[in-house]
Amino acid sequence: MKFCTTCGAQLPDDATYCTSCGASLAAPVNRNISFKEYIGTYAEPTLVKNIKSSAIVCYVCLAISLIFAILYNYLGLIDVVVLGGLTLGMHLGKSKACAIALLVCSILSTLIALVSTGQFSGWLWIVASGWAVTSFSKLTKAYKAFQAGEATNAADMTL
Ligand SMILES: [Zn+2]
Repeated sequence: MKFCTTCGAQLPDDATYCTSCGASLAAPVNRNISFKEYIGTYAEPTLVKNIKSSAIVCYVCLAISLIFAILYNYLGLIDVVVLGGLTLGMHLGKSKACAIALLVCSILSTLIALVSTGQFSGWLWIVASGWAVTSFSKLTKAYKAFQAGEATNAADMTL
């Protein structure tokens, strides 16, 4: 049994609005929020965690690339700056575009390294950014559905 917060009428537990005064009992959901706000409030925690984890892998790769660039090849610093900027944009800016750019850049830089040095070294970048792109795609899909009012909770959806 619950009571209307507006008029105090006694109502069944599953009531979504007051049958006496008509007041809505559910807190209104503001669907007009940014993608970043959506991620912070309504998004499925697993997907958000995936983005965070892939960003951590990227930061680790970044640290390794930085050490190698300083020790062996200063040109590698360009890679570090570009990939580092994109990782920050993806992680802190919650930007899907940055995640996609990161994937493209890591594939290109791996191919260049493979051709020029014969070493297949950037595969972890590809894995991490590919994972981030997948998570972002699922999140954008859930965000659009949320804005359209199809689901209040992304976990209710089959992605
Ligand atoms: Zn009422």
